[in-house]
Amino acid sequence: MLKNECDAGRVAWRTPLSVEEVRQDAEGRFTLDTNAGPIAARALVVATGGLSIPKIGATDFAFRLAKQFGHKLIDTRPALVPLTFAAADWEPFSALSGVSLEVRIATGNKKTGAEFEEDLLLTHRGLSGPGVLQISSYWQPGEPIHIDLLPNRDAAAALLEAKTGTRRQIANLLSEWVPQRLAHVWVATHQIPAEARVADLPDKSLRRIGEALSRWTLTPSGTEGYRKAEVTRGGVDTRDLSSATMMSARAPSLYFIGEAVDVTGWLGGYNFQWAWASGVAAGQAAAEYARGA
Ligand SMILES: Cc1cc2nc3c(=O)[nH]c(=O)nc-3n(C[C@H](O)[C@H](O)[C@H](O)COP(=O)(O)OP(=O)(O)OC[C@H]3O[C@@H](n4cnc5c(N)ncnc54)[C@H](O)[C@@H]3O)c2cc1C
Repeated sequence: MLKNECDAGRVAWRTPLSVEEVRQDAEGRFTLDTNAGPIAARALVVATGGLSIPKIGATDFAFRLAKQFGHKLIDTRPALVPLTFAAADWEPFSALSGVSLEVRIATGNKKTGAEFEEDLLLTHRGLSGPGVLQISSYWQPGEPIHIDLLPNRDAAAALLEAKTGTRRQIANLLSEWVPQRLAHVWVATHQIPAEARVADLPDKSLRRIGEALSRWTLTPSGTEGYRKAEVTRGGVDTRDLSSATMMSARAPSLYFIGEAVDVTGWLGGYNFQWAWASGVAAGQAAAEYARGA
């Protein structure tokens, strides 16, 4: 469909093609040095994306070009990316790879942080799943994340309620609320004796366990990096781009769109939407500019 639309608009396709350098002369015309020779252009839309997944062609070309034309760059970081932990810290959980459950997950403070209620997935090296990908776009290195393993339950109240009428061990009771394998490892890593029975634990201990279930605090050591990141946080500063046409305030007839720009969306199609919407705006403006030039 895209190809048909482009053909109807007499778009010339040159693919595969690598743009190596871009020059602009005193009249504002561009020359692109490519691996298939030079290309002249009156307007240029930079749509070469961010740094995510170099294996499928990501490059820093847009950022180099932005710098060349005097643009400010907002520091880039992998985002919508799994979080990793120091091997020793993660050792007890690595065997739970594949376990998933719905949680509430939060990081940062009111100003810089965020909270999501989504699925969490344990992996060999750390945490993934939609909840973690979302939170990774806000997480700052060194910061802890907080996980409510029972987002729809007052954990402390539920444990106290379970005290009467059951002789069950705590891990077995937790297995009703979270996946069984996680319940057992979680209990073992919280200095709770495996044989502890809910009925025998003092109210104070049950309240403390409830609070820990509602606010399991972990400090990731890093992320899986651009190798696995779905998007790149940061990029070309939006303050130097027209919000109507995406045209550069530094070089007329130069436009930046999509992932190259410092715009990062949540999971759910917002990044595609941004790339396409900004692409349409820039494409129409660039065509108009070229016609008038
Ligand atoms: C695994 C994965 C899953 C994703 N899932 C979703 C999703 O479900 N929903 C969503 O909204 N977003 C998703 N995204 C993000 C989305 O794909 C991007 O935000 C979007 O594609 C960005 O579009 P873009 O045109 O700016 O850049 P890109 O789509 O990255 O295109 C840039 C192109 O420029 C090429 N290029 C780079 N340098 C040069 C050069 N020097 N010369 C010539 N060509 C060059 C690259 O090879 C690439 O083909 C996902 C991303 C990944 C990696």
